Amino acid sequence: MSTTRRPFNFAPGPATLPESVLRRAAEEMLDWHGSGMGVMEMSHRGPEFVSIAEKAESDLRTLLAVPAQFRILFMQGGGLAENAIVPLNLSRGGAVDVVVTGAWSQKSAKEARRYADVQVAASNEADGHTTLPDPATWQLRRGASYVHVCTNETIHGIEFNTLPDLKALGSDAPLVMDCSSHILSRSIDWSKVGLAFAGAQKNIGAAGVTVVIVREDLLGHALAACPSAFDYKTVADNRSMFNTPPTYAIYIAGLVFEWIAAQGGVSALEARNIEKARLLYAALDGSDGFYDCRVAKNARSRMNVPFFLRDESLNEAFLAAAKDRGLLQLKGHKSVGGMRASIYNAMPLEGVQALVDHLNDFARRHG
Ligand SMILES: *Cc1c(COP(=O)(O)O)cnc(C)c1O
Repeated sequence: MSTTRRPFNFAPGPATLPESVLRRAAEEMLDWHGSGMGVMEMSHRGPEFVSIAEKAESDLRTLLAVPAQFRILFMQGGGLAENAIVPLNLSRGGAVDVVVTGAWSQKSAKEARRYADVQVAASNEADGHTTLPDPATWQLRRGASYVHVCTNETIHGIEFNTLPDLKALGSDAPLVMDCSSHILSRSIDWSKVGLAFAGAQKNIGAAGVTVVIVREDLLGHALAACPSAFDYKTVADNRSMFNTPPTYAIYIAGLVFEWIAAQGGVSALEARNIEKARLLYAALDGSDGFYDCRVAKNARSRMNVPFFLRDESLNEAFLAAAKDRGLLQLKGHKSVGGMRASIYNAMPLEGVQALVDHLNDFARRHG
């Protein structure tokens, strides 16, 4: 294998993985731990895979300090399917309040309307999804079955730095959080949460598995039309093996969880993520307007950093020069335009430093 460094990959998801995880998966591809089988070839009910899945689940519980009254489920369908699976399980056909802060929560509201009476409790659409609506202004309904928020808007680069305390806002509803693009990048205050879900392909591993962490009292209320494989109680009662789970994606997730523990856990990664984000935003803000980051400072994501060049005719040159120095997939989402740097857990500080060097050099040459 080549000893030169791999390029730094700023993709929003599927996204970069720790190199050591990829190497370990490669080593174990043909023969996992002397079993004579690769992980993809194992029965999901055999002792080898059961041990892989149980360790992944318990490592995740430790990393995120998930309390005993929450169940951890490994499901399929990704974040988008959860937009339907959550209302099928939690809405009881009643009221659902959604806070719209960007493209992902907008999709959640739209999908939930097929199953429940959905109301938008607050929205930042008027300012182009660049701010966080103050929880004190949210229009929460009495008796709502849950309140949905996307705690990190991957496309617009908006992140909740503290979770809303619904009880303090006069609501008894459980909080549902879509944390697909920042799970494991920071700790979670479970006292404020009813259910958290996350697709794997941003901060957990390979696409194909969705992690759902749900408070036990929310199980067992699915609508009659809910598919059995998507009924949280059925999935929980069968330890995520009601149907064949996405075995290889669970295995990769388990390797990533071990990697996170070896880095010092979520708090160590959080400190690193704060430093990475500080470096990148400082370079953008310090560019005398050559680059423009439009998200309000208190709402800026540590994971996804959208920005624009003042002179957008330089976009292609910027991306080409980035690629030449081994900085990949910086193009912004088509609905926003400009650039976006996704700097998930697996992006090392050196990757962000290399991007900052590119930002500075490019501005010097073209400013
Ligand atoms: C990527 C993403 C999703 C969608 O995930 P899929 O696996 O494509 O369904 C949902 N929510 C957020 C916040 C995301 O970043």
